[in-house]
Amino acid sequence: MKCTFYGVCGSYPSISPDSLPIRHTACVAIETTDFLVIFDAGSGIINLGHSIRDVSKPIFLLFSHFHYDHIIGLPYFSPLYDPRHNITILHPNPKKINSILAKIFNSDFFPIPYSQLPKPIDVRPLDFCKPYNFSIIPYSLNHPGGCLGYRFIYHDTSVIYATDNQLDTNNLNDFSTLFKCSSLLIHDCYFFDESQENLKTWGHTFLPDLLSLSLSSNIDHLCPFHFKPDINHAYLNSMKHFVDSTLKEKQSPMSCTFAYDGFSIDL
Ligand SMILES: [Zn+2]
Ligand SMILES: [Zn+2]
Repeated sequence: MKCTFYGVCGSYPSISPDSLPIRHTACVAIETTDFLVIFDAGSGIINLGHSIRDVSKPIFLLFSHFHYDHIIGLPYFSPLYDPRHNITILHPNPKKINSILAKIFNSDFFPIPYSQLPKPIDVRPLDFCKPYNFSIIPYSLNHPGGCLGYRFIYHDTSVIYATDNQLDTNNLNDFSTLFKCSSLLIHDCYFFDESQENLKTWGHTFLPDLLSLSLSSNIDHLCPFHFKPDINHAYLNSMKHFVDSTLKEKQSPMSCTFAYDGFSIDL
């Protein structure tokens, strides 16, 4: 089983020449021999779509929420236009997904109406995945308009995908309990340690809060992602240095990798 990041950026794709290499918006995939699970359809899902060769492998797509950086790639996800693919959207509220799809493919926003896709996307509740031997537990995250995090469980491995979540002193303990004992925690890390008060209402996480949650949750591997799009090498390096020195000081066995587009981890 392999987890690959296709988009690690928040808000909009990062394309600044003095910044890091191109980073697309949120999309992470977990692939096994039997199925492909995709979290979010930011612009990263476009490259993922082009890389899918096996049309017989079922594709399950989960949305955290419907801010643009998590849906913008969906109309350009090439498997939607090949009826040999079996694509299912899993969500606790299938009715909501059907109304969102109608909006995304409305002619005000996109030229091809939903009714003209080669076949409609199957939309199912989360427990539809049971026959495939994996399960999904949803968590309500702290983000304007609401957002869902997911724990994906397959055999002994559990991966948490928690984008767009604002950790703070009031909720740190609760999330630390919810996220306990995961093999991999993929979590929003939009900011390092900026102090501006207005940034603390944006629904995103500061690195020191994420690190203290991870250290108290017995996580094997932390992957911060959903970075703000204008960060440069110096900013990212200072984040990495903060993590390295904290893990050393606490003598923690936890691994931490700052995710980048194309990064894969075997689970
Ligand atoms: Zn976002
Ligand atoms: Zn959002």
